[in-house]
Amino acid sequence: MDETPFGDDELHEECGVFGIFQRTDAAAVVTLGLHALQHRGQEAAGIVSYDGSQFHVERHAGLIGDTFTKQAVLERLPGTSAIGHTRYATTGGGGLRNVQPFFAELSAGGFAVAHNGNITNALTVQRELQRRGSIFSSTSDTETILHLVATSAARHFVEKLIDALSRLEGAFSLVGLSSKKMVGVRDPLGIRPLVLGDLEGSPILASETCALDIIGADFVRDIEPGELVVISEDGIESIFPFQARRPRFCIFEYVYFARPDSTVEGRNVYEIRKKIGGELARESHVEADIVVPVPDSGVPAAIGYAQEAGLPFELGIIRNHYVGRTFIQPTDSIRHMGVKLKHNANRRMIEGKRVVLVDDSIVRGTTSQKIVQMVREAGATEVHMRIASPPTRASCFYGVDTPEKAKLLASRMTIEEMADFIKVDSLSFLSIDGLYRATDEPSRNKLAPQFCDACFTGDYPTSLTDQDGTENVRPLSLLGGAG
Ligand code: AMP
Repeated sequence: MDETPFGDDELHEECGVFGIFQRTDAAAVVTLGLHALQHRGQEAAGIVSYDGSQFHVERHAGLIGDTFTKQAVLERLPGTSAIGHTRYATTGGGGLRNVQPFFAELSAGGFAVAHNGNITNALTVQRELQRRGSIFSSTSDTETILHLVATSAARHFVEKLIDALSRLEGAFSLVGLSSKKMVGVRDPLGIRPLVLGDLEGSPILASETCALDIIGADFVRDIEPGELVVISEDGIESIFPFQARRPRFCIFEYVYFARPDSTVEGRNVYEIRKKIGGELARESHVEADIVVPVPDSGVPAAIGYAQEAGLPFELGIIRNHYVGRTFIQPTDSIRHMGVKLKHNANRRMIEGKRVVLVDDSIVRGTTSQKIVQMVREAGATEVHMRIASPPTRASCFYGVDTPEKAKLLASRMTIEEMADFIKVDSLSFLSIDGLYRATDEPSRNKLAPQFCDACFTGDYPTSLTDQDGTENVRPLSLLGGAG
């Protein structure tokens, strides 16, 4: 039996995408890019290359370093253009058939697509297409894009793609490859990141700038929300095919998801996380002896907290790097075990101390519960938990893997109840305005929020067509006329 963290078969994915156009050893470059994006998804990866006459597709379960670095695999991916995808998907099983990039021979020629984000009307569109005879080979929302391109009445490939994307709602940052072109697109709200890079004249598209750094490529610019770039032998063309909307970049990318060495939407992720820690220290001061991060996700915020509070920053918990993210282990029992495998208290640092523990977020509360117990067993006299984001109260439908609402600790409990549950002396979360201040916004603009912060506010910036009737989630900003 497949058991997903959601315990259902909804289409939610965390992903990284990368593509390079006209470069020798394109697939090897994509492998390196995906390796730098591994934090965005560890379950499986795929690469599609084009060698001037045909496409080649390789998709494997597991980490990039364990699969695509094998010579035999790379030899099966010849060509000077390639796109790739790394993913963690919670879609109920499906094995390799759900691994991207998706590839299809269309009337307009071969087309491969790799997608980061989640399309919130994919099931609805899929059902409509199936009624008209489309046969789907996966349960991924991304396949819907291929079918929409295939069935579009528009004449040229780029027009077909625009036609297809105009039917979709939700989050999509995607990279596509045809025999003549590489395309990159961000949804009109720009919920997920996508950047344009350059490696000695070869254009690159990547989820984050850290994937450019690994190969020494230059960062050119962010692809803008609602922008479609068409990369061909003629150069780079920029099109804005969608109705302009006020951008709503995902604020959780800054809190947790993006790598701290990436610069996203003009802001360095590490710097933002440190500022978040500073805001947190100002908002929720407590008398203590040391500040200890929950590694690795709590480290930059804990540094910011310690600097602002004037307290020593200590590595009071040591992480074993050879264990994946605990959150993504498939069953509850393994998730519990994962936490013990992953973290150990550094007793010398903690014994007899009043400890401020800093982590980026509480989702189910499992991690915090175990860590707090570990820190107490190591002799801490007081444990004060400080969380570098507001309580996670609502599910993400845009591509970050959060469990269903009922499993989110903050949707079931008050802050005092949560403090009891994780057994801390005090528990504080950053306020939503504090989080916005850390991104250099004065506060959250309630009528026109500057970010997508639905996981903290329940304010979804698009309609959630596939959810209609399943959950009472009304996009407040649509009702409020924002966007
Ligand atoms: P939990 O034990 O469910 O409360 O998980 C909280 C931990 O999971 C925190 O330390 C976060 O760093 C991490 N986390 C939060 N969101 C995610 C996510 N979408 N995917 C993987 N890990 C996450």
